[in-house]
Amino acid sequence: MTDDHALRRVGLVAVHTSPLAQAGTGDAGGLNVYVDNVAHGLARRGVEVDVFTRRPAGDVPSTVEVEPRLRVHHIEAGPPEADKSELASHLCAFYLGMADHPAARASQILHAHYWMSGWVGLRAQSRLGIPLVQTFHTLARQKNATLAPGDNPEPALRLAAEQRIAVHADAIVAPTPDEAAFLRREMGASRVHVVEPGVDLSTFNTAAGRSWTADLLGGGRDARVVLFVGRLQPLKGPDTAVRTIAALAATMPADAPPVRLVVVGGPSGNGAGVVDPPALQALAEQLGVADRVAFLSPRSHEQLAALYRAADVVLMPSHSESFGLVALEAQACGTPVVATDVGGLRHVLGPLEGDPGGGTLVAEHDPNAFAKALLPYLLDPAVRAEAAEHAIRRADRFSWDATVERTLGVYEQALGLRDAVVQRGA
Ligand code: UDP
Repeated sequence: MTDDHALRRVGLVAVHTSPLAQAGTGDAGGLNVYVDNVAHGLARRGVEVDVFTRRPAGDVPSTVEVEPRLRVHHIEAGPPEADKSELASHLCAFYLGMADHPAARASQILHAHYWMSGWVGLRAQSRLGIPLVQTFHTLARQKNATLAPGDNPEPALRLAAEQRIAVHADAIVAPTPDEAAFLRREMGASRVHVVEPGVDLSTFNTAAGRSWTADLLGGGRDARVVLFVGRLQPLKGPDTAVRTIAALAATMPADAPPVRLVVVGGPSGNGAGVVDPPALQALAEQLGVADRVAFLSPRSHEQLAALYRAADVVLMPSHSESFGLVALEAQACGTPVVATDVGGLRHVLGPLEGDPGGGTLVAEHDPNAFAKALLPYLLDPAVRAEAAEHAIRRADRFSWDATVERTLGVYEQALGLRDAVVQRGA
């Protein structure tokens, strides 16, 4: 690397959702947490960071100075209240607003998050003559392959856009070796780098919980708590979580402590009406377990950490999952996770270089199978304690610092490659 290649300024593109938004509802989830951590990490290493996102509803300034060297720019693109499903028709407006922005023109490299940002990024890549790095966060082909009942397949436009981006981006960042292999094998991508997301161990750890969690979780001191955390979408299977509690209630021994399900998160995406809290409550009533299910609005990471610690086990009955930050955060708090054996959850929770993860992967998407997997963690303190040890060890392998370091390496390589292409006059 010569000094000409030194990275000074990067543009992060997150069209449909802002790192400033509270994760756990609407369109805000793991992507927001990822962009937020990478942006802060880069800024703290001395890189100027500009995040470009769509102007949300409400009175927000055009630019928010988040910390020294980190700015979030709000780009006008369609009505602020437009739903994510309508955003494809506003991508041209976003591209025009961003490509003319002085901060984009000063960027040496763009890193786009999700397919809509990649679509914008591909155009900006040629207009600005700078490399494009892409993180998909989810791939439509993988999501469509294991759709939740009632969920809509991802549209042809997204499939086509992801295919183009996979081939034309200067670098692609995949969160797991499995996703990288899929991108290479099924989509013809060649410049794929595995960069694992991280977890903030200063927040998610086993420090003593706070007393307020007991009131929030309810059910008395003896109750066993199964925790579900995430956006309430069919893809995440919150309805399966309710069915699992009903299956547990039917199979637990008569003298066992009462078991409760606590659901943390808010309505999201096209599943907003299908698995929102009233619909889940109605399902719980129909199954005779309404008094065993509680709903909490989205929480900050500090509050979530206390909830993970207070829970006996975290349940993730997802139909698909690109990574699954929740599984990592819960393990960092020493809480075992029971999750579907899909996507990134295999990497976060399954065996890794000889280490078992802190929990159980369940092959069938079946409430009885999830209930069976949960039982040992709820009833056998020795099993739970052993899983907690494995969980903490697994989480220790991940950190946002490592994510940022590796991401910087990808940027530097992409910049070097791009300069080499320019020098050759290509
Ligand atoms: N989250 C949060 N508050 C909530 C619920 C979720 O901050 O009330 C965060 C959670 O801590 C995690 C992210 O949202 O960091 C969800 O990421 P994950 O990869 O599990 O799912 P995604 O949203 O990407 O599908």
